[in-house]
Amino acid sequence: MSNNTHQFQTEVRQLLDIVIHAFYSDREVFVRELVSNSSDALEKLRLKQLTGAAIADPERDLRVTITTDEEARTITLADSGIGMTRDEVVEFLGTIAHSGTKKFLEAMKETQGGTQDLIGQFGVGFYSVFMAADKVEVTTRSWQPEATAVKWVSDGQEGYTLEDAPADTPRGTSILVHLKEDAANFSKAEHVRYILSKYSNFIGFPIDFNGEHLNTVQAIWMKSKKDVTTEEYNAFYQFIGHTESEPLTYMHFSADAPIVLNSVLFVPDENPEAMGFGRCEPNVSLYCHKVLIDSKPEKLLPEWLRFLTGVVDSEDLPLNISREMLQDNSLLRKISGIITKRFIKHLEGVAKDEAETYEKFWAQFGRYIKEGVVTSWEHKDALGKLLRFESTFTESGKYTSFADYVSRMKENQKDIYVLYGTSRAQLEHSPYLDALNARGFEVAFLTEGGDQFVMESLMKFDDKDIKAIDRSNLDLPDIEDTAPDTPALDEEEAGGLSSWISDTFKERFSKVSTSNRVISAPAIALQGEHDISPEVKAYLKAMGQEVPETHPEIAFNPRNPIVMKLAELRKSDTELATLLADQIINTALLRAGMLDDPARLADNSQALLEKLLQK
Ligand code: ADP
Repeated sequence: MSNNTHQFQTEVRQLLDIVIHAFYSDREVFVRELVSNSSDALEKLRLKQLTGAAIADPERDLRVTITTDEEARTITLADSGIGMTRDEVVEFLGTIAHSGTKKFLEAMKETQGGTQDLIGQFGVGFYSVFMAADKVEVTTRSWQPEATAVKWVSDGQEGYTLEDAPADTPRGTSILVHLKEDAANFSKAEHVRYILSKYSNFIGFPIDFNGEHLNTVQAIWMKSKKDVTTEEYNAFYQFIGHTESEPLTYMHFSADAPIVLNSVLFVPDENPEAMGFGRCEPNVSLYCHKVLIDSKPEKLLPEWLRFLTGVVDSEDLPLNISREMLQDNSLLRKISGIITKRFIKHLEGVAKDEAETYEKFWAQFGRYIKEGVVTSWEHKDALGKLLRFESTFTESGKYTSFADYVSRMKENQKDIYVLYGTSRAQLEHSPYLDALNARGFEVAFLTEGGDQFVMESLMKFDDKDIKAIDRSNLDLPDIEDTAPDTPALDEEEAGGLSSWISDTFKERFSKVSTSNRVISAPAIALQGEHDISPEVKAYLKAMGQEVPETHPEIAFNPRNPIVMKLAELRKSDTELATLLADQIINTALLRAGMLDDPARLADNSQALLEKLLQK
């Protein structure tokens, strides 16, 4: 191999193999990818200019030049952007440098098949050119005045060659695409014009197409909302999001004070993290008066808003701000705060005016809102309004909000009640509901992992405490005795029974009592106020982590016939009474998901039966 011949990295070869066998219909995506690379390269150059760096060919204006040659079966895409040095060419056009492409490869492995869709959705960057090309020549010269120009040539198979390009090569990059025979239509002017009109309306630089000026420069986020049509928003989204789909909802927001801000943010129609692509990267670009500062700034918006795609533009940012400065910049924090607040408001508006869209949003992105409650302390109250859940008052599959819950609260109801579990069906049978149902109080069903953390972060809604009804610290108002004539243990008997059980099962409970919270069951187990929930406990166990000790409480139903019998038995037949009490307790723990050792229930059942049958 001569020293100007280079091998592609293994992953690049894998990627190329997929790309080369892509569907015809996906092929046009390569035009979008190359134009978008040119646009990025031009943005980067403009930023260099504005910050006063010394630049090669300073007079050269910023534009994209596209030419087709039907006879030669070629298309050339050139720009006067930042260009690449020899080292950069080796890195960018020989390895998988771009993290999106890496993710694409990972997703490919997971989805096995279905790959064609992924190419259209994700875009695979520069390498997509090999969908249509059997040979590509890249001639490039970096903006750095002393850099030499290089020429990269490849057929997309094993590797590429690299050699010096003529000394008079202008700054920027030119990509000469030799088209495959069956991709000849990309050398036809009309076909390419159509593709460009589809993808490249929003390029912030002039495009010359076969000597003719094509598009007008449009930065729709700088326009007034009323001057932008839905189609334009959609097209802009498709362009910046590298996607064919339409956004679920978008927000266009402008402000003059306290900071000059223009922003357009899009919610995708599907949660990218649910499609097996792993955690998504922030995709909201930061501009300063139409100049791109950073296409994926880390700290621009809070983490939980990473599903958004869009643009934030602020004239107040210094142009020469570096990535490091972006990390810790008080102005950026302010911008983040303002945009986040506005976006939450936007979602509130969607929930109010476009119920169906909000439902879709909640199904796809609800988890991010919950993440926001836990991680964005300053926004948690506003985010609380966006939460949705089922409850004892909703039909199965229908959602409600805390605001609606509060509007339905009974006069004597102080707190908001919630119950954690794995499904509505499971929670509907919970013995904890009895006491709340009897009082006509609504209970929210929270059935997703992590809900407990979310509620513990939220703590309150509308000044009302949020309380889990399986906790011991519920302070329920007394209710009128609906059946005053049913026999019940009197206070003395109840007290006696409680202390006997306390003594007998000393180590197991923090408190034993009789309580008006139990209505149908003989007893319920309650979690101590500061205990972790059974779900969290199970999770910690599964992760092999240490599980903190919990201190459940047991509350007996003084009206239950079994309990009344127990109160008698404990005086006449302690052995049987102990077995019976253990049975009641284990059943209550089981129903609460708090029985750590199911064998205990089985063993005790057997012993109890044997004892009863002996009689
Ligand atoms: P992406 O553009 O998404 O990062 P690509 O595979 O398309 O991924 O390109 C890889 C890298 O090659 C780019 O990040 C950029 O640094 C460089 N590059 C591609 N096209 C150009 C161009 N026209 N001018 C300058 N650099 C380019």
